Amino acid sequence: MRLSNMLFVTLREDPAEAEIPSHKLLVRAGYIRRIGSGIYAYLPLMWRVLQKVSQIVREEMNATGAQECLLPQLQPSELWKESGRWDTYTKAEGIMFAFTDRQEREVALGPTHEEVITTVARDMIRSYRQLPLHLYQIQTKFRDEIRPRFGLMRGREFIMKDGYSFHTDEESLKKTYQDMYQAYSNMMRRSGLKFRPVEADSGAIGGSGSTEFMILAEAGEDEVLYTEDGQYSANVEKAVSLPPDTEPSPFTTYEKRETPNTPTIDSLREFLKCSPTQIVKNVLYQAIYDNGMTVLVLVSIRGDQDVNEVKLNNELVRQAEQYNAKTLLSLTVPDSEALASLRASAAAQQKWASKPLPLGYIAPDIADDYINSTPPNPPLVRGGTGSVVTGGTEASPISGTSPLDKGGQGGGAPQFLRLVDRTAVELKNFVTGANESGYHVVGANWGQQFQLPKLVVDVRKAKIGDRAIHNPSQTLQSARGIEAGHIFQLGTKYSKAMGATYTSESGEELPLYMGCYGVGVSRMAQAAVEQSYDKDGIIWPVAIAPYHAIICVPNVGDAAQMEAAEKLYTELNAAGIETLLDDRNERAGVKFKDADLIGIPYRIVTGRSLKDGKLEVVQRATKQSQDIPIDEVVPTLKQWIEEALKG
Ligand code: ATP
Ligand code: MG
Repeated sequence: MRLSNMLFVTLREDPAEAEIPSHKLLVRAGYIRRIGSGIYAYLPLMWRVLQKVSQIVREEMNATGAQECLLPQLQPSELWKESGRWDTYTKAEGIMFAFTDRQEREVALGPTHEEVITTVARDMIRSYRQLPLHLYQIQTKFRDEIRPRFGLMRGREFIMKDGYSFHTDEESLKKTYQDMYQAYSNMMRRSGLKFRPVEADSGAIGGSGSTEFMILAEAGEDEVLYTEDGQYSANVEKAVSLPPDTEPSPFTTYEKRETPNTPTIDSLREFLKCSPTQIVKNVLYQAIYDNGMTVLVLVSIRGDQDVNEVKLNNELVRQAEQYNAKTLLSLTVPDSEALASLRASAAAQQKWASKPLPLGYIAPDIADDYINSTPPNPPLVRGGTGSVVTGGTEASPISGTSPLDKGGQGGGAPQFLRLVDRTAVELKNFVTGANESGYHVVGANWGQQFQLPKLVVDVRKAKIGDRAIHNPSQTLQSARGIEAGHIFQLGTKYSKAMGATYTSESGEELPLYMGCYGVGVSRMAQAAVEQSYDKDGIIWPVAIAPYHAIICVPNVGDAAQMEAAEKLYTELNAAGIETLLDDRNERAGVKFKDADLIGIPYRIVTGRSLKDGKLEVVQRATKQSQDIPIDEVVPTLKQWIEEALKG
């Protein structure tokens, strides 16, 4: 391709909208252009990169025997109602773009395709003889992300490869899952990425687990915990570890103490001169189930530990049945601002509490009559995240308005749902709130002053420095990662809900076992840049670079330079080396800058060395330059590229 014929526009300034290097560089180098929030045009250079990533993904998928297909992006609501996901995906934290068509039918733009593929399987898979079967597609997905950002990393429209496999049993599913583990590792490696497979949260579905493929980069939104011995790595959402040992309590007798201005663990610890490992902290959450039921959740946990909200969420889904609900719509994350405003305003509390709670001083046995069981306005905030201020012995839900109110079906559970984390169970003579502002109790014990909640759970957040469970001499290290892929053993969740069965060898009608496997093609492409750039621009891994080589003609007015460039351009392309020819009437300096910015692996300059029958070849990654005899340029580049592609 000749630059003089291309839409080739590079920017000198960083775009205001971009926060991370890869996003800035892709916009500056003319790969992508923002059209709206989380919506990007993939310009020709980007499209080539995306096609290369797609091709690597496709080859690895095909090698496992999976078959490519293309499923509809428009999805009828009926399917999502059958699986039970319509409400979760359209209300509350709903991420699905849904609308009503001219025939008054509800439809949505596909954020994922379990429902569609399960319908296909239900209709077309009859017998065990057709199994196992694995279909995949590479397609644009739509998700109404609450916070689209970082360019292609979190778009509202993005390219994903999603695959779904069907099996007679778990063993067959596990085999395909293993194949996918290998295929995904191959995709990442071949694309030139530094990555780490990690144990991931599988939600409340359970199953035998899931693995995320994390591309390691500071800008990653995920935290990975791992051990140096290579035996353990997990997403922090899923990670487990041994908590630090507790220090013995200095309080041997039970008593109530005045502890003015100690609503946080830090202030309390300082006031009482005790260790946070001797405190039982009581953290308050608010859960809203899919039938509109609002439940106030009180989690008792050791003072030096934090609640892992993903684990808590999963636990609350498991409790759905006791509230006659199927699933959880939202779990409100306490947020410091709302907490402050709640503290300041007793009126705000009245919305859901029948009388003001002693925030900061709550005990595990806080009375249920604090709850106004039919809140006029159950609070809910969409997608709240961020720092959790848990107060000394409690935290608090935040205010807002539930969309469920509109249906008029909201109701409140009349009692707190009390959970105790394992770390708090073993404490003796502990400190906790006294259910009265400005007071705590010390020297308390379960079974004496406080009844141990029936639900003993693991909702503790593992953190850097914790000892590993598999080997306590190993401590957890932390790294940032960009989730590029996620493979998942679904089991029979969708097939059971949607009645997708097959006839077994013995003639039984059984639900299909399913697996699903997703990889973000566009996210992966940008993540490659996040891992590989310098002050001058992008450094593409050869395997996914839009072009392998760029010929820069320092002076297009010089006939000898142009002639050499044209000849080489033809030869390189003929040899299968994808080449750009910078034949623009620009200064050499501008051309070199642009070549560096767009990150083409090899730059060839038809400059001064031409008179000696040589061309200057510069490697983008190392900036190493060498003069190579004209005849040797094509074979040399061919060899370098082959070596680079071997990885
Ligand atoms: P995340 O936790 O980052 O939102 P997810 O768990 O929602 O990801 P999946 O539903 O497993 O992601 O989708 C499979 C892959 O699709 C992800 O691993 C990621 O690479 C990609 N992906 C998901 N959401 C987006 C998005 N908004 N923009 C770009 N790529 C995405
Ligand atoms: Mg997501």
